[in-house]
Amino acid sequence: MPLLEAAYELPASGVAGFPWDWVDGNTTSGQNVVAASGFHGTPVFGTQVNGQLRFADADAAQTGVLNAFFWCNVAHDFFYLLGFREVDGNYQTVDKLTKGRPGDPMTVSVFSTPSTNFGNVQAVQDGLPPDMLLAQHPTTGRQAALDAEVVLHEYTHAVTERLAAGRLSWNVAAKPQGRAMAEGLSDFFALSILEHLGAPTSPRRAFGVWVANDAVHGLRRVPYDAQFAATFADLGGFKDEHDAGQVWAMTLFRSAEALGQLVGDAERGVRMTWQLVLDSLKVLAAGHSGPSFLDARDALLSAANPPPKKPEFSGLSAPVLAQSIRAVFSRMGMGPGATSKGAAFKGVQADFS
Ligand SMILES: [Zn+2]
Repeated sequence: MPLLEAAYELPASGVAGFPWDWVDGNTTSGQNVVAASGFHGTPVFGTQVNGQLRFADADAAQTGVLNAFFWCNVAHDFFYLLGFREVDGNYQTVDKLTKGRPGDPMTVSVFSTPSTNFGNVQAVQDGLPPDMLLAQHPTTGRQAALDAEVVLHEYTHAVTERLAAGRLSWNVAAKPQGRAMAEGLSDFFALSILEHLGAPTSPRRAFGVWVANDAVHGLRRVPYDAQFAATFADLGGFKDEHDAGQVWAMTLFRSAEALGQLVGDAERGVRMTWQLVLDSLKVLAAGHSGPSFLDARDALLSAANPPPKKPEFSGLSAPVLAQSIRAVFSRMGMGPGATSKGAAFKGVQADFS
């Protein structure tokens, strides 16, 4: 399966010397990602043909390794361009353009067994490689490593962890709202990256459709569509961070939609939201270890003022941008008067004004 056949397009780089090769030799191992079947097991071997590395005749497990390797590399490059770099604690074997701690490529282990925990990632401090573990869905038997949505979701967890907690810490998920926010961020990036970087099956309105073998709900309770009704006011009724996280993901999908309407370009609205969200996580790192949704709202507004110096934001003033974002937060119950008792689910007070 030649990797080049996958539908995928990076935004124009503009970063001198970037990107660099994904593979070092002839295996699923390189600067950004080391992927293997079994725990820290054997990578998949390819064959060099005319300067291209080709992976052929792989069995299902090997195809999963290859797929996870591919999408983790896409995620590395995507987040690098948005501003998650060596200095921010990103995941690379060698630090190339800025200075962090090297020696921590995303380390992916793919298991050919079913597990209730079929997709997870454990990121510790910068310089120590994170472990992404992917296995078969316990009911459908489908391999999570073959679902790009799951791979991107897990990779985003690792990004959130380093950015929102700080590169030498890893406690963004210390409190329920922080855990939920991380789930929402992961759903948002996974679905929007696939929808907007040209992979097939758009629009994407449910998360984990393939691995769950459920075209309507995917792995979640409800799809991210026009009927989505939950808001910040409902947080107290949630026990599971994935359910609560859908409120945060929907806030981001609606922000992208609102910004797209503001500039008359839906695609640009998504790119603006990606940038603001990434920047906002760096703002959170400055002061929070267990952020609430309202902390994250404030960080997002702070990332928008002044607007990032990126082409997507040209011609937009800070007040116009803030007004558009605030309107979405108000619709989701996170208006200026919303309150929260720390970052717990219970005790939130919504404000729709
Ligand atoms: Zn998750």
